[in-house]
Amino acid sequence: MRNLELTHLKNYQWPLLLALVIVVSVLPVPDFWIYQANYIGIYSITCLGLVLLTGILGLTSFGQAAFVGIGAYSTAYLTLNFDLSPWLSLFIGLSVTTLSALVIGLITLRMSGHYLPLATIAWGLSLYYLMGNIDALGKYDGLQNIKSLSIASLSLGQGRIFFVFTWVCLIVFIKSLSKFLDSRLGRAVRAIKSGTQMPQAMGINTFHFKVLIFCLAALLSSFSGWLLAHFQHSVTPSDFGLKMGIEYLFMTVVGGAGYLWGAVIGAGIYKILDDQLQVLLPMLIGTSGSYEVIVFGIAMVLILKYLPEGIWSLFGSVQNITHKQELWTHAEPLPSKSQTHPGEVILEVKKISKRFGGLLAVNQVSFSIKGGEIKGLIGPNGAGKSTTFNLITGLLPVTSGEVMFRGVHTEHLSMREIAHLGISRTFQHVKMIPEMSVLENIAIGAHTRGHAGIAAALTGQDKREESRIFKEAHKQLIRVGLGNYINEPAGNLPMGPQRLMEIARALCADPSLLLLDEPAAGLRFQEKNELAQVIKNLKAEGVSVLLVEHDMDLVMKICDSLVVMEFGNVLVEGSPVEIQNNPQVRAAYLGTEH
Ligand code: ADP
Ligand code: MG
Repeated sequence: MRNLELTHLKNYQWPLLLALVIVVSVLPVPDFWIYQANYIGIYSITCLGLVLLTGILGLTSFGQAAFVGIGAYSTAYLTLNFDLSPWLSLFIGLSVTTLSALVIGLITLRMSGHYLPLATIAWGLSLYYLMGNIDALGKYDGLQNIKSLSIASLSLGQGRIFFVFTWVCLIVFIKSLSKFLDSRLGRAVRAIKSGTQMPQAMGINTFHFKVLIFCLAALLSSFSGWLLAHFQHSVTPSDFGLKMGIEYLFMTVVGGAGYLWGAVIGAGIYKILDDQLQVLLPMLIGTSGSYEVIVFGIAMVLILKYLPEGIWSLFGSVQNITHKQELWTHAEPLPSKSQTHPGEVILEVKKISKRFGGLLAVNQVSFSIKGGEIKGLIGPNGAGKSTTFNLITGLLPVTSGEVMFRGVHTEHLSMREIAHLGISRTFQHVKMIPEMSVLENIAIGAHTRGHAGIAAALTGQDKREESRIFKEAHKQLIRVGLGNYINEPAGNLPMGPQRLMEIARALCADPSLLLLDEPAAGLRFQEKNELAQVIKNLKAEGVSVLLVEHDMDLVMKICDSLVVMEFGNVLVEGSPVEIQNNPQVRAAYLGTEH
């Protein structure tokens, strides 16, 4: 089981790493290797962005080199023509990059499937031709004589001082990103890769996070472009073309796109191999040419086949998380939403219908739920129960009808907006992040209850809020009886506990209404009893529950009232006793479940 964000370094090891960089710079390492290491550091920074974008978010980009180009050309142009300080041109380059990334991202990130990688190729190509055709940017010859970076009167040059600067930046970025990935926002990002439904049901704005990561990756590329321009003292369009875009992706995937250190390993292997092959291959083959490209192609195929998670997965695959409970024992509990009053109608479903082509899956269904009421939605398979759930939670748009939740019309709101109002749900088919611990999965449910932003997440200033979130997640974990599984990667859980984990995650959102779709499926007898107790306790706290369940013993035992559906219609509504004695219901069940 892998953990995405873990850098395998303890807090005290980071300063040691920085010290190591300084030690290397004063050791008699040949200048040639320092020069190589500088390239590796620069490339790694771009690859870090690709780890976020491709490995963690699951969006493939061939166009990162274009953002490197924006950073490089901005600083080259501004420092050469206006004699601007490189630090000011860095700032301007990053601003231009942010704007470009926002424009490109807002247009292309809504695309799905193969369109996004194709779009990244398109912008990679167009920026290349743009850079190559603008007179002021030197056309295909590029710009030369770019000055070295300097800090006060200290010139960073191309050697050891530049090495220390670049690698310290790289290490600081890795440390910040690992903090980010381990934060509320980072967990939201990591949740998106396996589908947007669950994160949205937890109130996460998935599109917002895609744009955010896209911009962050572009900024890292732009920064690396800034370094590259001042390191090489020159920029040419071919440094930033599509070929280079593909090679950045290659480095990242080979190194391990799911791991921050994979970026460094990948960039290192690429740079060293590239250099050595350019010397070795002509000697072996006898003619010169870009044969290293062919070797790279073959290496890439082999690595993808035998080590699909990249080289870092050899080192990074066995670390287990251990959540330290003392981190949150003294945390303040998260604030709670306003309680519902018994008798208050909190949900009113009025004649909602859903049509799928020719099939009327839900037909004019109406019912209401009061504060603290447990309502069962039962009926044979295909009756329209899950669809009704999806209409109430906004996962599907209604064809007609109205839904009111605590006085607000929700039938045209998005799933995320509805989640913010206080409706939380589980799914008939469990949706989770298998490589995250059970506790972290549950903590995703508390997303809407936190406020720390990206800056706090990157710098670790969100620790207080994090401990409050984990306190809540732990409370819900204990409540559903998963205490033994706290550190376990969620993917290792049996079916029953996975369902309980989903309930705990939904509860973490502090809902007024909880929708459970077949929560007892796959649970053992004892687990079902515990589940029944959990639901009853919720009722006592004023939480209302809408429950789809096939286990009639459980339904009859805990529900206050039942709605029976058949073929998309409401057959009858009533108390468990009334329903049990209803001849129509008996006929419906005997008729279809024989
Ligand atoms: P239940 O949860 O009661 O078993 P569902 O709500 O899942 O039933 O399904 C009701 C009917 O709607 C079924 O006939 C199902 O095949 C159909 N259905 C559900 N979702 C879709 C969809 N996204 N597209 C087309 N038909 C669907
Ligand atoms: Mg269903």
